[in-house]
Amino acid sequence: MKYLVTGGAGFIGSALCYRLMQSPNAHVTVVDKMTYAANPASLAPLERDPRFRLVRADICDSALMLDLARAEAPDVIFHLAAETHVDRSIDGADAFVKTNLVGTFAMLQAARAYYERARPDRFRFVHVSTDEVFGSLGAEGRFDEETPYDPSSPYSATKAGADHLAQAWHRTYGLPVIVSNCSNNYGPRQFPEKLIPLMVLNAIAGQALPIYGDGSNVRDWLHVEDHADALVQIAELGAPGESYAVGGDSEKTNLEIVNLVCGLLDARRPISGSYTDQIEFVSDRPGHDLRYAIDASKIRKDLGWAPSRNFEQGLADTVDWYLANEAWWRPLRERVYAGDRLGKVGT
Ligand code: NAD
Repeated sequence: MKYLVTGGAGFIGSALCYRLMQSPNAHVTVVDKMTYAANPASLAPLERDPRFRLVRADICDSALMLDLARAEAPDVIFHLAAETHVDRSIDGADAFVKTNLVGTFAMLQAARAYYERARPDRFRFVHVSTDEVFGSLGAEGRFDEETPYDPSSPYSATKAGADHLAQAWHRTYGLPVIVSNCSNNYGPRQFPEKLIPLMVLNAIAGQALPIYGDGSNVRDWLHVEDHADALVQIAELGAPGESYAVGGDSEKTNLEIVNLVCGLLDARRPISGSYTDQIEFVSDRPGHDLRYAIDASKIRKDLGWAPSRNFEQGLADTVDWYLANEAWWRPLRERVYAGDRLGKVGT
């Protein structure tokens, strides 16, 4: 099987590459622009394998994407490349519009041209999206495949637009597109601007642990390796034109997450007092969605997927991974992002 993975040097993309390469017959080519969010160290072990290749390129380069699709002749394109941090999208949406919309358009066009000419047997274009496209839930209910789109942030609006493009390329041109809408991921190799790694690294650096608003915003957490498994199932068994909501059935408030992280660190790296003493409530994110939760019945029933990692154990493993892998995150903290507040515009 030949796979083309866009954004493979990022958090979920790298987990997916490790998952795909477990199969001895897999050949994986990653296309990644290596933005601030990519860490070359994430893929370094895979680059020693001749079945793996990293192409440093921008998915918006439509001619190059077409050449690459034709040259690689993939069985599956997993499209993950995106600008992904909501706070950065609030500060400046340009890169989000370019990569998430124009870049997705370029990938769909390249896939279509390749598909129409080569007519590969069982080609799939798996467009990897988020539950954030559905906007905010109140205290009740969960998102599923029928939930209307209602994005709140520049990030989720561009992801919503990209989802519509992907579905339109199926309906109009017959491209075998499948869309996944997944909840918040956690696990190793996540860029330390996102909640869990930011809290771990700020805590052990003796810095404040900033919580937006009152910390009551709820997310449904899924381990990144469970997400990678879901994407493989979707590529193998999913029906073209369908979308699948993917979630972990692990709803937690942000404050609960930070308290759990602090408790794990108190046990592993004791200090006088508790890391919870470093918690600081700060002004809320503009347009901050209150609650996300996923009803994953469809992918469970139709594709036989279910999350296999228990959240508490997965979180403990994740904290341990950051404690054991300073060589992975230290250059990012020192040279790319030191933990300062982003996305305050309008507050
Ligand atoms: P990430 O920010 O960790 O990685 C994104 C990767 O895309 C980086 O390696 C970056 O260099 C690359 N990239 C960005 N712009 C590019 C461009 N123009 N050309 C080529 N490569 C480019 O993101 P992630 O958390 O791994 O998310 C991957 C995908 O999954 C995204 O599409 C995101 O919307 C989606 N998603 C993420 C989550 C989550 O909780 N992280 C949940 C659901 C869905």
